[in-house]
Amino acid sequence: MVNIIETNNLIKSYKNTKVVNQIDLSVEQGDIYGFLGPNGAGKTTTIRMLLGLIKPTSGDIQIFGKNLQNNKMDILRGIGSLVEYPSYYGNLTGLENLEAIRRLLQVKDKKRNLEILKVVGLTDAKDKLVKNYSLGMKQRLGIGIALLGSPRLLILDEPTNGLDPAGIQEIRELIKTLPGLYGITIMISSHLLNEVDQMANKVGIINQGQLIFQNSIEELRKKSNPRIVMRTNDSLHAESILQQEGWNVTLKENGELEINETEDSKIAYITDKLVRKNMEVYRIQEQKRSLEDIFLEITNKRGVIS
Ligand code: ATP
Repeated sequence: MVNIIETNNLIKSYKNTKVVNQIDLSVEQGDIYGFLGPNGAGKTTTIRMLLGLIKPTSGDIQIFGKNLQNNKMDILRGIGSLVEYPSYYGNLTGLENLEAIRRLLQVKDKKRNLEILKVVGLTDAKDKLVKNYSLGMKQRLGIGIALLGSPRLLILDEPTNGLDPAGIQEIRELIKTLPGLYGITIMISSHLLNEVDQMANKVGIINQGQLIFQNSIEELRKKSNPRIVMRTNDSLHAESILQQEGWNVTLKENGELEINETEDSKIAYITDKLVRKNMEVYRIQEQKRSLEDIFLEITNKRGVIS
């Protein structure tokens, strides 16, 4: 597999604070890579480095198998991007905005404008002034502009920021169609896991500058397997009894025991064990965790999740 983006030990410091701290990204050809993290985690800073807008403090960036520093213009020609709020000519129509950028990029085929408008679902609004577009329409136009030069890689920084659920859904549907249409690789950042959940095949989670998870969405999903939660009269004691026997249990902040097992016989054994040690078991419950719970849990913990 060809790595479209690869970074090694990427660091960006501002005044001795590492806002991006030793990040090793790996985005493969054809991936829709969800780059996730809470506000201020370092997503935009990373993306700005990938686009050559700011210089890394140290570390290495390879895009399309080439070093970004030494092949900047060549690499950037292959990337379309939408970073923060893009600027438009509000007094021009959607079509005229595309035409202006098409000339700037020296894209030869004029028909490309209409093709792009169709892909981003703005054909009917092509003659409307952009200042009268909704935020969702503006974002779709921004994605259209990013696609004009037929990039191999599309980098979108929080394209759904500020959109309502319907607008988010439209962007999601649009992005899902792109790899099939153009064989493009996409990196999309977001602070909400459920936003990228239904389109990304791979996820990188950044928190306080560190990449704490990078793997397929299936691997992330496995972490949301159901668990058993137990309430007893002395959970600290119960935890120590069970841990001595090698059970995978953790004491939660609310005093409940979380047991990483769901098999009936094992739960029966554990309950029996505690009762025989004169403990009182009040409640045994199965707890399903959503992907969002997992995301919140791992971004609160800060540890590296493998
Ligand atoms: P958001 O979703 O809020 O944009 P983010 O994950 O994109 O979050 P960044 O914008 O990359 O986060 O910011 C990461 C950290 O770096 C923040 O604490 C921010 O204040 C800090 N930071 C970013 N740019 C600068 C700068 N030019 N000078 C100093 N600190 C900066």
